[in-house]
Amino acid sequence: MSCSTTTPFDMHTAGFGFRGRDGSPLLIFNPFRMAKGAAVQKLSELKPKGRLRVMDLVADAGVDVSDWANFKGGKTKASVNPKYCYEWSYIQPNEVVVLNLWYEYMTEKNGAIEQQHNFRQSARRYEGIPHKSVWKSRALRMDLAVQTAAKKKLPIRVIVCDGQMRDRNDPNAAASKVKSRMLDPVPWSVSEYNNATGQCTLRRGTTATRFIDQFSLPKESPAQRRTVSGVVFARDPEVRRRALLRANGKCQWCGEQGFSMSDGGIYLETHHIVPLAEGGSDATRNVAALCPNHHREAHHGASRLEMREALLARIRSSRKAKNHV
Ligand SMILES: [Zn+2]
Ligand SMILES: [Zn+2]
Repeated sequence: MSCSTTTPFDMHTAGFGFRGRDGSPLLIFNPFRMAKGAAVQKLSELKPKGRLRVMDLVADAGVDVSDWANFKGGKTKASVNPKYCYEWSYIQPNEVVVLNLWYEYMTEKNGAIEQQHNFRQSARRYEGIPHKSVWKSRALRMDLAVQTAAKKKLPIRVIVCDGQMRDRNDPNAAASKVKSRMLDPVPWSVSEYNNATGQCTLRRGTTATRFIDQFSLPKESPAQRRTVSGVVFARDPEVRRRALLRANGKCQWCGEQGFSMSDGGIYLETHHIVPLAEGGSDATRNVAALCPNHHREAHHGASRLEMREALLARIRSSRKAKNHV
């Protein structure tokens, strides 16, 4: 691909196509399943061209960056807050892990793009070297981020970095300089992690299909489709994905785990608490993940309005409890 502005994979084969009422295709992009069939995996397409701000990329990946403004530079200088902007990894608890990875270290093998690393080992290299203790802790946090992604099966969003790398094997080498970076639109996952050594293999594409909702079912039977009537509202797949990750497989009304699907996924339905038709927003603060029973009740139950208030309050408080790691 020659043009840097094109997406490095074909969105139309990666997602599910539905048709809107007027017959126009309505693309439902399914970030859980796309990587399986994603044939286009060319390393060269990941070479970053632009140099976007880390804060913006981290926010785009789904990490809450509101605390970046919480220093003497304030909101205007938030993007250069030294507490965050030099970090190598970011964690949004139960939702996503963001890693800065060098393009140079990525490999392409049998159509899969990978990077092998051992951040624990990197941390040990900086041990005892004056002024490098900050690198040591960044490397250890990178290792922790990979562990978190592996344990909680969280998607990894990768900020691909290119530029002047310092010599990995020379702990006294000057700091690296990132000349260009981009957020890979395809989530990565941990394909191997050795608990004893910290050696890991990160792979582009998600291997685990974990949380599934009614919109990501592979095929809708005609019977199911008939139950959808009226105006079809566009739902942002990223909002659904984040709502499902936040619920972590448990119905946000009764707390029971959604049922396990034949392919190992956990099924819950995403629900707009204030309906889109009533002006509710298509944002994670207005989307709950519910078991099918409670989803129906939220729509048709005698106490649906009380449920609405309680769900909104629950999601508000869970958002408040969320902290930076
Ligand atoms: Zn339930
Ligand atoms: Zn609903």
